[in-house]
Amino acid sequence: MKNFMQGVLKVLYPPYCVLCGELLPMEEWEKGICTGCASKIPFLTGNRCGFCGRELQHGEVCHSCLEKKPVFERGISAFDYDVLREGIARFKFDGSKGDGAIFGRLMAAFLLSYHQDWIEEIDFMTAVPLHRRKEKERGFNQADILCKSISENTGIPYQEDILSRTKATIAQSKLSARERHENIKNVFLSQDCPDKCILLVDDILTTGATLNECSRALYRSGAKKVEIFCLSVTE
Ligand SMILES: [Zn+2]
Ligand SMILES: [Zn+2]
Repeated sequence: MKNFMQGVLKVLYPPYCVLCGELLPMEEWEKGICTGCASKIPFLTGNRCGFCGRELQHGEVCHSCLEKKPVFERGISAFDYDVLREGIARFKFDGSKGDGAIFGRLMAAFLLSYHQDWIEEIDFMTAVPLHRRKEKERGFNQADILCKSISENTGIPYQEDILSRTKATIAQSKLSARERHENIKNVFLSQDCPDKCILLVDDILTTGATLNECSRALYRSGAKKVEIFCLSVTE
């Protein structure tokens, strides 16, 4: 019986801390983070660029966002990618949906603690879509799993299928910054969303090319404001 229960729980929850990878005692699987990490969750706070969430010494917008102004209205990220590198790899490539639910819960806590004003303003959130074939391969879309969990933990409505990806592209991670912009151009389509304030969710913000293209599609379909929220941002 105990083994059976362990099996069921293992499908629902990761048996390790999603932040540091340390194995958890079974009674802590549901929490998904170890006591050490829970006592000092490394959320990105302090002075941050209002578009990408990267750290700022002074001012309100970072150099690269000033140089190439993002299409979206503003943006935040919950964690530094370096801290989550292994955790995100386990989630995306070892097919552990349970990790995503824990990450989403942490993103919800980040919003509730530091960006409560965002929650009131948003009409609904939606996920950066994967191409059908890619989603089938992986078994899930990581941004969709994050959205479901953020929605459950904040009450922000989640509208699936607002965005779709019209063609399969080369993975952005394999390309240079310039190639990323070309690779992703006009790849997304959006359903009508007149006058809506939308929170667009993804797992990693790197150059912002994908989030920019998704935002462009949403604005074309009538969105009033597109704001972005990522699990992590690269340096
Ligand atoms: Zn930990
Ligand atoms: Zn920036």
